[in-house]
Amino acid sequence: MGTENPNRPSFPARPAATPFAAGPQPTMPFLSSGPVVGSQASGFRPTPSSTPQAAMPFLSSGPVVGPETSGFRPTPPGRFSDPSLPSVPSANAPPTLGPFQRFTTPQNPSTAQAPPARPLPVGQPVFPPPVQPPAGQVPPVSFRPQSQLPSVPMGSPPQSMNSAPLRANAPQPLLDSSFSASRPPFQPSFLPPESTYPAARANLQPSFPGYPSKQSNAVPQAPAVQSPFLTQQGGYAAAPPTSSPPFLAQPGGYIPPPPVAAPLGLHSREQMQHPGTGPPIGAVQGLIEDFSSLSVGSVPGSIDLGIDSKALPRPLEGDVEPNSFAEMYPMNCHSRYLRLTTSGIPNSQSLVSRWHLPLGAVVCPLAVPPDGEEVPIVNFAATGIIRCRRCRTYVNPYVTFTDGGRKWRCNICSLLNDVSGDYFSHLDAIGRRIDLDQRPELIKGSVEFVAPTEYMVRPPMPPLYFFLIDVSLSAVRSGMLEVVAQTIRSCLDELPGSTRTQIGFITFDSTIHFYNMKSSLTQPQMMVVSDLDDIFVPLPDDLLVNLSESRSVVETFLDSLPSMFQDNVNLESAFGPALKAAFMVMSQLGGKLLIFQNTLPSLGVGRLKLRGDDLRVYGTDKEHALRLPEDPFYKQMAADLTKYQIAVNIYAFSDKYTDIASLGTLAKYTGGQVYYYPSFLSIIHKDRLRHELSRDLTRETAWEAVMRIRCGKGVRFTSYHGNFMLRSTDLLALPAVDCDKAFAMQLCLEETLLTTQTVYFQVALLYTSSSGERRIRVHTAAAPVVADLGEMYRQADTGAVVSLFCRLAIEKTLSHKLEDARNSVQLRLVKAFKEYRNLYAVQHRLGGRMIYPESLKLLPLYALALCKSTPLRGGYADAQLDERCAAGYTMMTLPVKRLLKLLYPSLIRIDEYLLKPTAQADELKRLPLVAESLDSRGLYIYDDGFRFVIWFGRMLSPEIAMNLLGQDFAADLSKVSLYEHDNEMSRKLMGILKKFRESDPSYYQLCHLVRQGEQPREGFFLLANLVEDQIGGTNGYADWILQIHRQVQQNA
Ligand SMILES: [Zn+2]
Repeated sequence: MGTENPNRPSFPARPAATPFAAGPQPTMPFLSSGPVVGSQASGFRPTPSSTPQAAMPFLSSGPVVGPETSGFRPTPPGRFSDPSLPSVPSANAPPTLGPFQRFTTPQNPSTAQAPPARPLPVGQPVFPPPVQPPAGQVPPVSFRPQSQLPSVPMGSPPQSMNSAPLRANAPQPLLDSSFSASRPPFQPSFLPPESTYPAARANLQPSFPGYPSKQSNAVPQAPAVQSPFLTQQGGYAAAPPTSSPPFLAQPGGYIPPPPVAAPLGLHSREQMQHPGTGPPIGAVQGLIEDFSSLSVGSVPGSIDLGIDSKALPRPLEGDVEPNSFAEMYPMNCHSRYLRLTTSGIPNSQSLVSRWHLPLGAVVCPLAVPPDGEEVPIVNFAATGIIRCRRCRTYVNPYVTFTDGGRKWRCNICSLLNDVSGDYFSHLDAIGRRIDLDQRPELIKGSVEFVAPTEYMVRPPMPPLYFFLIDVSLSAVRSGMLEVVAQTIRSCLDELPGSTRTQIGFITFDSTIHFYNMKSSLTQPQMMVVSDLDDIFVPLPDDLLVNLSESRSVVETFLDSLPSMFQDNVNLESAFGPALKAAFMVMSQLGGKLLIFQNTLPSLGVGRLKLRGDDLRVYGTDKEHALRLPEDPFYKQMAADLTKYQIAVNIYAFSDKYTDIASLGTLAKYTGGQVYYYPSFLSIIHKDRLRHELSRDLTRETAWEAVMRIRCGKGVRFTSYHGNFMLRSTDLLALPAVDCDKAFAMQLCLEETLLTTQTVYFQVALLYTSSSGERRIRVHTAAAPVVADLGEMYRQADTGAVVSLFCRLAIEKTLSHKLEDARNSVQLRLVKAFKEYRNLYAVQHRLGGRMIYPESLKLLPLYALALCKSTPLRGGYADAQLDERCAAGYTMMTLPVKRLLKLLYPSLIRIDEYLLKPTAQADELKRLPLVAESLDSRGLYIYDDGFRFVIWFGRMLSPEIAMNLLGQDFAADLSKVSLYEHDNEMSRKLMGILKKFRESDPSYYQLCHLVRQGEQPREGFFLLANLVEDQIGGTNGYADWILQIHRQVQQNA
């Protein structure tokens, strides 16, 4: 798209037809246009150059020449430094006396030892000269306190902050303007929250894809049962008689709805079991492969017993990664990196309009590779990275070589490119390069290219961890502060980046505390700033330090942090001003900002109110506002943070309302994550916090990243869903990203008819590795174009469909009532199944049977589970507002597998396993999530990936309880925690929990013990989560199926 190429204004615009034509509605939240976030307009863009340019590597427009190929231009070192500011080294440095001297800054910052306030030179982002990675010392420049400078109130709106600086970066404006000029209108995606979701909404409402069928009596997949049945029905033309009679014959047999009644040829269980005498299979085989069907039967006198709920399809094997895709195209990247909602790409708009389910992809660019497979690293060195000169696609297994090896054809845009001399290879008899074996990029769907300097706007940043920690009374009392300090300390050796890693800390209550960690000190010095309206950063050089150089100071600090505040009685939270201060310190380099928040922000900018989570608001058009950030400060800060390559992870601990809706915004737009520990108490929750914080600190992280997904001619991605900031129409800015983050996107056809046989997709993630290398991870996949709706359904991937459903529904709750979001899920499901039914029902005389594609047999169940999930369930009383919002933020980032596990957790009976010496853990079977699965003589583990619930049946053998709980076996289980006792049974249980945790370590399941009948715990922890049951007025699984089925049949 021409728009993507800010740097190449002169390029002829691509013909609209090309796949790269500018999207009609690019989203440019941060570009100058539009009402958007104030800052972007002005923007000094620190990353600035990187912004537009970063885009470059992924640009896809016109022929590229020379250097611009590379997206990232090295920035002249001095560019961001402000020569006018003399560097005043340690002039104002407080004396290095005792440990932790507190230098309190009175209201007037320029007095006493407190270095004079030097407003954030936001306008003049200081860029350390050439980054001195290991040095850890931030060049003094920008934040140096200078009393003589007029102080610019930090509190001022971001817009003003940025405007000045913008101009400062000479080249930027140009880039920006050209960038934005070419930009089309604007896409809803990530604009103001209100506008954010319209797109999704639009999509949701109109379309409603197919639906799955249930089987009442028959075993779900058993074709044997079905086929005879089907055959029989298909046998004659006049279906109606066949199906209706049985139905009519059984008065009362089924559900009420009159309209449905007649058409619903419901079959009784008997019928299913004795399918009649129809001709044996044969002709029906093909059909059976296409879909499954479920007899929605009825039993006289009952409404919902007509379905044999045991026969309903369930994901008791967990998520099964689709493989048909890979079978067809063995060189595709693995499905854990990229999954399509259907790998049969529709060839026409009319097909798309009949698909009804989301059409798109779920991408997890840094997923942990499958066992035994590593992503090969390719270094083209002097040759340069081989990319299509027009669309910027990276060379991949689907490009073809011709002309004796001198040319290669791009699989995405079909352009014939020259093969450079360095990359030349002869072709063999069938046209393959003879060096294929040595070229992973030509045989592997996933590779990682080492990016040369053209892909850098500045030297690769070092890994940087900055901690903003609440030390108010509740943070200390809950034990949070101590656990956080200990955990960080224990991870110091494992932080990625080796000797390059940088670290810094700010703590806050009603004031802001900075810590000088200079390596020459023996102990850190604390400086307190109490003027919240005019924040300044004392000693900017020594607040962010190189970890290996200042290691002992950092350790001393962490060791003493809990005791420093142990007597703190401060109840206030100057969160907003502290956030600004952290931003000022970090803005030169970017990095990860970990925020530990225990108290509702109460002072200074960004303070939040106790928003009434008012029962009366639910069901009105004001309801969604509760789930949106209240103060524009948060969105504005998120925009600024992203620009400066800062990713925010929020750890929230409060036992009271803490406005996760507002705080989470910081994570949402910076590619971060929300961790929520309501009513945190270290005695109960410390293991979970320790584990999750450790993982956050030690998992491999990609820094200052941007991601783009390209696709072949005729199709285009239209919307993106997850945690990131959209930087241009299709460039996702991800200040930090890791294996636990997935992104979803929707696709549309640009042309009425696709003429190609295959559509290619290529995901490219440009990032800085912790070791300081610029890398591009590239995943490529091909999918066939199909002309048949049935084929689209056959190739559907339930996991990807559910992922998109989930993200769209959660987004919808930000602009609509919960009920509307749930209804939209149901409506799409009904539409899709209706469409599918129309494909086959009449022709095969399926009468009242519910039919669905085998590939989507679990979709109704997941859709039901989604409607009962924390972000969407019920109303006011069904989930606390913070809990709802936190779950929403989390679910927006989850990879497919983990999302499915959360929606349909595993329930396993383990008492027999514990008793039997020879029992193998592999033999444990997952059970349907219904209360009937629970036997009061048993012991069960419920695992949704975020927590374990261990359920003790009332009649469980006391021996087991004693072995597992020791003396506590009869106590109130809410006060008992599980630990290993010295006996085989206890070791086995702990072993199995460990095994479950290790199977996916991205979160930590805390263990909750529940005894049968012990209310309200049992209800809260377990019964309310048995998604197949009727809970609080919701549908049970069987009812849901009947309801869907009736709706499908209406007007069918
Ligand atoms: Zn191309």
